[in-house]
Amino acid sequence: MVVAGKGRLDVPLGTEEKRMKKPFFQRVKRHLSRIYLRPIRVFVFHQVSDKFEPETMWECDWTQTDVFKRNMSSLMEKFTFLSLPEVCEHLAKDKIRLKNYAALTADDGWYSLTNILPWLTERRIPVTLFLNPSCLDGQHWNSRETDHLLTEEQVRSILEKGKPFISVASHGWTHKNSKEMTMEEFEDSVMMSEEVLDRMPGKVPFFAFASGRHTSKQVSFLKDKGLIPVFMDGKDNEKECHEIHRYCLDGESHDF
Ligand SMILES: [Zn+2]
Repeated sequence: MVVAGKGRLDVPLGTEEKRMKKPFFQRVKRHLSRIYLRPIRVFVFHQVSDKFEPETMWECDWTQTDVFKRNMSSLMEKFTFLSLPEVCEHLAKDKIRLKNYAALTADDGWYSLTNILPWLTERRIPVTLFLNPSCLDGQHWNSRETDHLLTEEQVRSILEKGKPFISVASHGWTHKNSKEMTMEEFEDSVMMSEEVLDRMPGKVPFFAFASGRHTSKQVSFLKDKGLIPVFMDGKDNEKECHEIHRYCLDGESHDF
């Protein structure tokens, strides 16, 4: 018989005590898991050039080349960079992760990526380019008549030169906000985009929502089609690979 007050470990916990204990064990479990299964951080950037050009660039999406290189050099000291499929492999298998891993992605397929991709490839940094296939013929999604988005030919040349470090994936057929699409429009956008990108070498099964906007039905549709939804919500990736979350790397210095 257990006497109250003695042999406390043998006394069955009351509901209130269970409530008190649970957060502690959860905290310990989470702490251990963060040591052995360190979260993986995925970054996204957009445009990189020496000089900002207001006619063809968006200030919030742009990073000066030297600033980008400096940011990346600092990240390379802190993280080992993986490709997105390697990130998923780690997350899905709960592989022990004693190192800090990260991955790099670039959205929209700006021509200015050609200013930085060779530099990244020389350093063996994998990058996934999220593209809008309707723009690969030189058209831009907001009708600006310039040549500042990559064409299909240019993407193919980038993939050839950056092999095996550069891959491509879908950002939707156009850059339209997914939340403003009907389900039918969204499904067409996904499938048309896949059809074009599947013909390219280095295609990987991810889908980054344009401007990050989406509905839960759209997320389910992607998963049903074997595509991994990618968000830009500033969260880390801790386990499983049903979704990928990203941090924005555009602009001045960052403290990651
Ligand atoms: Zn975008």
